Amino acid sequence: MTTFNRRVILRSRPVGIPTADNFAIDQAPLPPLEPGEFLLRNVYVSLDPGIRQRLSQVDSYVALIRLGEALTSTTLGEVVASRDPSVQPGEHVVGFHTVSDYSVTRRGPLTRKVDLTRTFCASNHLSVLGMTGLTAYFGLLDIGLPTSGETVMVSAAAGAVGSVAAQIAKLKGCRVVGIAGGARKCAILVEEFGLDAAIDYQQKDLALLSVMMREAAPKGVDVFFDNVGGIQLDAALACMNDRGRIALCGLIAQYNLRGPPPPLTNLFKMIAKSLRMEGFVVLTYADRFSEALDDLERWVNEGKIIFREQIEEGLERAVPSFLQLLDGGNHGKMILRLSDTYA
Ligand code: NDP
Repeated sequence: MTTFNRRVILRSRPVGIPTADNFAIDQAPLPPLEPGEFLLRNVYVSLDPGIRQRLSQVDSYVALIRLGEALTSTTLGEVVASRDPSVQPGEHVVGFHTVSDYSVTRRGPLTRKVDLTRTFCASNHLSVLGMTGLTAYFGLLDIGLPTSGETVMVSAAAGAVGSVAAQIAKLKGCRVVGIAGGARKCAILVEEFGLDAAIDYQQKDLALLSVMMREAAPKGVDVFFDNVGGIQLDAALACMNDRGRIALCGLIAQYNLRGPPPPLTNLFKMIAKSLRMEGFVVLTYADRFSEALDDLERWVNEGKIIFREQIEEGLERAVPSFLQLLDGGNHGKMILRLSDTYA
């Protein structure tokens, strides 16, 4: 087995939109395994907008990536060597690891074995049956608390988290409005994911966006699952019903800003309409992951949730694919495949 490991490292901290120059692929020697550790050959790597937060000195709920260090993200890997008696070579593990050909890791609350025979595609463990699906599940059901007949609106609804949140809301009997960038993504929302209406937010100002939201949600919005922030959140505030709930999942509109984000002009609606806005971090639900995964797996197997994955091949595609995610160029969950022996 190789003793060298190719890793995607952070070379310089981006200011504003990251560029390829901020990253490099290097080779580092693999350290010998300590007791309790095991070595994974990474098969799939999840590329997430959240990585952007950890490249710069900004607020994040996961540790900053240090210069010269490998990026980290959720990976699915095959165990190739182990000094943990409970983990055997040939088994598969999902966890938070380096973006590299190999990762040295050990068992922990976020590192779990997965049974690939139970799923159609191994990559699903990084999408609908991974953090993506779990984020949609807990954010919508625990914080949004949708009930049948209510109207749910979801931003970045054609994306990985948003598409699952929107479909769970449909399963709960809600009218669902999705927001996405461009006509093609909006068509997918209605025709593929079965949403009731779609809003293309591109080139729209706050006033026009508010009008479009009111048209798409004539009875008002009871739950807003927000992945974006910015003027989408501001416009949604103006359309919320009394006692509406906003599940604040992400603020991708501001991840690349050079200065402070613009203020929310409709913030007073929080008081006037008795709204509740609650942020959440999916990792805090770790002790309930298996409960959620049982539901998600059932819905997928019954064909009640469909999802898209954009699979890119090889470690060299890590940086371009990550950059594509930040400008809306992705269609579905962005995943990197490092081994062609897996479907
Ligand atoms: P997506 O698959 O949704 O990809 C990101 C999408 O965001 C793009 O396709 C694009 O969609 C949209 N986007 C990108 N830049 C902007 C912008 N400047 N303004 C508006 N929209 C933009 O990613 P994920 O589903 O993985 O992540 C969605 C959100 O969920 C992110 O904010 C992420 O940080 C958050 N998240 C939160 C977690 C938590 O625990 N709270 C866990 C995981 C993710 P379009 O083309 O439609 O604009």
